[in-house]
Amino acid sequence: MTTQMAGRSPANAPRILIVEDENPLVLLLTYNLEAEGFIVESSERGDDAELRLLENPPDLVILDWMLPGIPGIEICRRLRAREATRTLPVIMLTARGEEGERIRGLSVGADDYVVKPFSVPELMARVRALLRRVSPERIAGKLHAGDIELDRNTHRVQRAGRNIHLGPTEFRLLDYMIEKPGRIFTRSQLLDAVWGMAVDIDERTVDVHVGRLRKALSRGREPDPIRTVRGAGYGFDEMFGRN
Ligand code: CA
Repeated sequence: MTTQMAGRSPANAPRILIVEDENPLVLLLTYNLEAEGFIVESSERGDDAELRLLENPPDLVILDWMLPGIPGIEICRRLRAREATRTLPVIMLTARGEEGERIRGLSVGADDYVVKPFSVPELMARVRALLRRVSPERIAGKLHAGDIELDRNTHRVQRAGRNIHLGPTEFRLLDYMIEKPGRIFTRSQLLDAVWGMAVDIDERTVDVHVGRLRKALSRGREPDPIRTVRGAGYGFDEMFGRN
């Protein structure tokens, strides 16, 4: 199977090639990577992947170890041997029980190594970390979550392609929370991070600005990306855009 789904991804989004012959896993990863704004392509055979990597290398490869055609480890070795792909980020996947192969995977130049079954958020975190390391300017500037995009360079926020107008405080709140989906911050943590340590402001101020942020972000029946945890605080919903 060969897929190329641009989805909602902006044209300059990083391209990720998944080389994996387990179709359900490919679908799961594609779905999650696209939700984060990546452009995803996939290939289920090593020889097919090899051709694509020669013709048009992506920004990162998720490479299964056991593949029909050419094994993942051999693809990785060839990537490293070619000038054009010497530094191309590679995350290798392998089945449980093959952990002993880890050293071999790393020795042929894989940047990271994940043992199946793995948690999807964990793999997403590794993809982001690896891309940040190799191309910080492309990753650090724009943050994606579901259909929301926040651009730190232009201070623009979009949802489903429309511009969201936020005040400076709401922008900083969103910027802070969207980077750590699933984490709940107390009001005092948010005050420190968004307003600054030195300020002496009533914690209810946080509620007011979170309320404004919510109102600005969601229109009609759009899901609310901000979670309120009673007695604890606020955070960006880690499930947002994934269900
Ligand atoms: Ca496989």
